[in-house]
Amino acid sequence: MSENCIFCKIVAGTIPVKRVYEDEVVLAFPDIAPQAPVHVLVIPKRHMASLAALTEADRGEMGHWLERLSHVARLLGVDEAGYRTIINTNAHGGQEVFHLHGHILGGRPMGPMVAR
Ligand code: AMP
Repeated sequence: MSENCIFCKIVAGTIPVKRVYEDEVVLAFPDIAPQAPVHVLVIPKRHMASLAALTEADRGEMGHWLERLSHVARLLGVDEAGYRTIINTNAHGGQEVFHLHGHILGGRPMGPMVAR
């Protein structure tokens, strides 16, 4: 747990969210400002600042995280039509919350990959 990390507070239950999926390693919950009909965040419970902070030691946990992200997309019913997965990293990536998270966006065609 990292002090003053909003997603660590969500993991701890200090900030209540709808827990879409949870196990010992990951937690999924709706984005507070949805950008699509379906917009859910999937995070590792352990504080990791960003994708840029990963090391070889994180391979097992990150494999679990990605497989569960796929599972959550199935739970949400967006897997067949498809969805966009976004991981924003640091300043140029537009990262706002510095606790690693993957966005699942779906429920409509998501359009071009990046703004032109
Ligand atoms: P980013 O760091 O840019 O990948 O995105 C951070 C995301 O976290 C944004 O889409 C926010 O809307 C979302 N967010 C921030 N605070 C909360 C919260 N308390 N509950 C759910 N989502 C949040």
